[in-house]
Amino acid sequence: MEQKGILIVISGFSGAGKGTLVKALLQKYDTYGLSISMTTRQPRAGEMDGREYFFVSKEKFEQVIAENGLVEYACYCDNYYGTPREYVEKQLAAGKNVILEIEIQGALKIKERFPESLLIFITPPNGDELKRRLEGRGTEDAEVIAKRLARAEEESEGIEAYDYIVINDDLEECVEEVHRLVDAARRVPIRRKELIREIREDLKKFKKGAN
Ligand code: ADP
Ligand code: 5GP
Repeated sequence: MEQKGILIVISGFSGAGKGTLVKALLQKYDTYGLSISMTTRQPRAGEMDGREYFFVSKEKFEQVIAENGLVEYACYCDNYYGTPREYVEKQLAAGKNVILEIEIQGALKIKERFPESLLIFITPPNGDELKRRLEGRGTEDAEVIAKRLARAEEESEGIEAYDYIVINDDLEECVEEVHRLVDAARRVPIRRKELIREIREDLKKFKKGAN
């Protein structure tokens, strides 16, 4: 039976490995679609407009907010980040599991607006490993890294709002664990309202006096 896709929020501290994980998940399974966010931050070396993000000015971002073009948005370390509405709605309708790789304020807004969404928090095994990964990535200077590590401490206060926490130690294991969680989440009755409605409808034929 056809099933609508589910909305999956992946969050985690900067440097936890969310981007790496999501890329591996998309490569391995074709049931996922990744939402590309809009941001006012500068592209990193190697990032392409329309691939990692839609890179826009603050004015443009505020115009899209005013046009109700975003499902959610937030400010993170001095920049705006937001999820364009159209792609998410189209992909869900097409049966894809849509991944939003977003930070915690956005995640909470998504849960409020889409109670059936699945919220997964990705963490490295410990803080030192987080610092190592951020430094090892080599895309931010020391000042930005310090800001992001401080932000991680604040974000850790919100982890309980998520449905699951997954440790990204061995990447391959992490990919499989997330995929299993999504698979299980698709079987939870609140995400199968249409199926339940159809079963109920079908069973009406056995009701006394129906024939
Ligand atoms: P995020 O998207 O959460 O900011 P990235 O995916 O950019 O994080 O990963 C940060 C750095 O950590 C990258 O250099 C990446 O190659 C590395 N990394 C990701 N996952 C792992 C892992 N399981 N083990 C070791 N290094 C990892
Ligand atoms: P980065 O600058 O490292 O690419 O992203 C910084 C943070 O912004 C990450 O935690 C990332 O998940 C988050 N982020 C990316 N896109 C969005 C979005 O559309 N909305 C929200 N709320 N956060 C986002």
